[in-house]
Amino acid sequence: MKKTVLACLLLNLFNVLCFSILAIFFGKWWIILFALLFLCFPASRLKGQHFVYCDNCGRYSESGATLEEARIRAKNHGWVSLSNNKDYCPDCLAELKRNSKGV
Ligand SMILES: [Zn+2]
Repeated sequence: MKKTVLACLLLNLFNVLCFSILAIFFGKWWIILFALLFLCFPASRLKGQHFVYCDNCGRYSESGATLEEARIRAKNHGWVSLSNNKDYCPDCLAELKRNSKGV
């Protein structure tokens, strides 16, 4: 998630830099406005993506195009959905098991 934000930031920086060079080269300031056409936003990539949310630590599972797909992916990675409609990541599940054994 953070990597995509950083990648977008670098891409935008490179993009603006390229058009700045072109603008200076041709002596037309408005060329820089073309850079706006190629800006990318990390949030737009996440549109229509679904996640499973860990009710204990707040982590998100891998994304899926649908909630069902996200759930299947999460399940494959060791996530568990409990009967009380709560989802747990593998780390929290291990902790939960440890705690229940202690009682
Ligand atoms: Zn968790």
